[in-house]
Amino acid sequence: MKKLFFVLTLLVSLNVSAKDKRPNILFVFSDDHATHAIGAYNGWLKAVNPTPEIDKLAKDGMVFEKSFCSNSICGPSRAVIMSGKHSHKNGFMNNGNTFNWNQQIFPKLLQKVGYQTAIYGKSHLKGNPQGFDDWKVLPGQGLYYNPDFFTPEGKVRIDGHATDVVTDLAVDWLKKKRSADKPFMLMVQHKAPHRAWMPALRHLKLYNDIDIPEPDTLFDNYKDNAPGVRHQEMEIDRHMDPNYDLFVDLTADFAGTPIQKRQDRSARGNMTRMTEAQMKAWRAHYGPRDEAFHKAQLKGKDLVRWKFQRYAKNYLRCVKGVDESVGRLRTTLQELDLDDNTVVIYSSDQGFYIGDHGWYDKRWMYEESLKMPFIVSWPGVTKPGSRDHHLIQNIDYAETFLEIAGAKIPSDMQGRSLVPLLKGQSPNDWRDSIYYHYYEYPSFHMVPRHYGIRTERYKLMHFYRFGNEWEMYDLQKDPDELTNLYGRPGQAKLTADLKKQLYALQKHYGDESDLSEMPKEWKDKVRPGTAQK
Ligand code: CA
Repeated sequence: MKKLFFVLTLLVSLNVSAKDKRPNILFVFSDDHATHAIGAYNGWLKAVNPTPEIDKLAKDGMVFEKSFCSNSICGPSRAVIMSGKHSHKNGFMNNGNTFNWNQQIFPKLLQKVGYQTAIYGKSHLKGNPQGFDDWKVLPGQGLYYNPDFFTPEGKVRIDGHATDVVTDLAVDWLKKKRSADKPFMLMVQHKAPHRAWMPALRHLKLYNDIDIPEPDTLFDNYKDNAPGVRHQEMEIDRHMDPNYDLFVDLTADFAGTPIQKRQDRSARGNMTRMTEAQMKAWRAHYGPRDEAFHKAQLKGKDLVRWKFQRYAKNYLRCVKGVDESVGRLRTTLQELDLDDNTVVIYSSDQGFYIGDHGWYDKRWMYEESLKMPFIVSWPGVTKPGSRDHHLIQNIDYAETFLEIAGAKIPSDMQGRSLVPLLKGQSPNDWRDSIYYHYYEYPSFHMVPRHYGIRTERYKLMHFYRFGNEWEMYDLQKDPDELTNLYGRPGQAKLTADLKKQLYALQKHYGDESDLSEMPKEWKDKVRPGTAQK
């Protein structure tokens, strides 16, 4: 009886009537989709019109121009979104960690206030998801073709390309499993365009007849960077493997010729999942191209350019699948007459290098991988075609979703609800800097651990564990971050000011996670009581 009374009180306090008017939330989230590969962000890849459907969403809603992650790597970014807390607080600091699902996360809080919740696709947090009424998640990175899913009923294999399969699951849930009397929060989390970039068969011919424009920094020589930047392992030139990353010769194996080269767990694992018909179509596309590649005997910059083209085309073909998914999901909302009361968000766990600085992958605090797409259409709230310029981060998402749902925001979350910004407001006390901390070293691509601050105009980063080096950039004068101002004459005051702000942020967010090499004078000056680790 007491429980019933509590529920009734809760329903009254939430003003929940038989027809619940609270907005639905559709969160479409991809993996490694850089803002410069989205038309609405006006980057250099806009020329190839990569995302017409996402661009329509932007036209109907708001584009956040200064949207950043707090730790540019798959699992950690998702853990931040779930918890509304920085990596050092939610405990998932690198992909080797396992997420503690028992902790406070926003889907559980939405369930408590009567939302129906579901997640389909890539979770990357390990373990069975909590806080969801229904879920089907890819094991780890998942496979592109005919993927397995973990479900509450055990493991199932679903045939098709992962992007289409995940979209199908979401559409099916919207049409058949959704409760008509409850608002919903649905997370549709695509594997694409994550490495190794395997498009759907129908997209293999896309961009065949054009050259993808090259980034200005394709041949960056890192002359002004901290030493760790020269010791990374993520260059298209030296590290991108034609076999592992670009499928050169992988098709031959399936024609009966054994591959003598190193076998790739990811790309090859994906290919062995293909049906005979899928494999035949794949081979028909890449076989002649591999042959031409071998004949050409490319070297030096010509080889880099060839690798860039195959990589960028496959990446953008994977993006095309995600873009179509956004279109299908929005069409489904319209069919079900849910579009007027559903907030649709498009985002991705971090940005990516598409040849920028000569790289692929992410991890760095440089702009290309620090930026996260964040586009929101909230009918009746966001002004169509608007653009927001406040500094936002993935720590803000959980609180935003909670406020949209009218739920209480826990005081220990570390972000800030974006609802005022969605309403077109500009709060006077909005943050003027964001904090970043990357931990995964030594690991794939050997990007050194680093933390830093980005303000409207400047960026300061400290690399540690691999050396003890700083970099500082003026993003207004040097948007490609090629001239490291740290230690240069005339920069002392700016450097000191940024360091002071950086350590204030570390104190604010309670980050004492791995600062052993912080200069003692700074620990003593701005972090009283926290100098000893
Ligand atoms: Ca990712």
